Amino acid sequence: MIAWVKRFFSTDTAPARKCCVQSAAKVQLPPDRRIAKVWIEDGCLICNACEATCPQVFKTLDDHAIVLAGSESSFVDCRDAIEQAAIGCCVAVIRVQYDDGSLAPIS
Ligand code: SF4
Repeated sequence: MIAWVKRFFSTDTAPARKCCVQSAAKVQLPPDRRIAKVWIEDGCLICNACEATCPQVFKTLDDHAIVLAGSESSFVDCRDAIEQAAIGCCVAVIRVQYDDGSLAPIS
């Protein structure tokens, strides 16, 4: 009982999710293209990985993550971080569309 109480009220942080890292190997991104649009589809698990990877574009709210309004101005400078966030999303709900209409991540 004491062990359960200690575990329940523990202030230790949970270990980092590893699912996001594991999904990266399955994805092949298009060659160098300009990002035109970024959005998040339903199914976000609120893991905060996208915001941690690219806080200029992504924000985690209480019940889902969003693409920040006005973040289009960061698409060029933050391209790598945006793509890494898309690759790293453990449920693959981040979508990136390039100016030629192609989408990433591509599985
Ligand atoms: S969009 Fe993906 S990476 Fe971002 S918080 Fe949701 S599940 Fe995590």
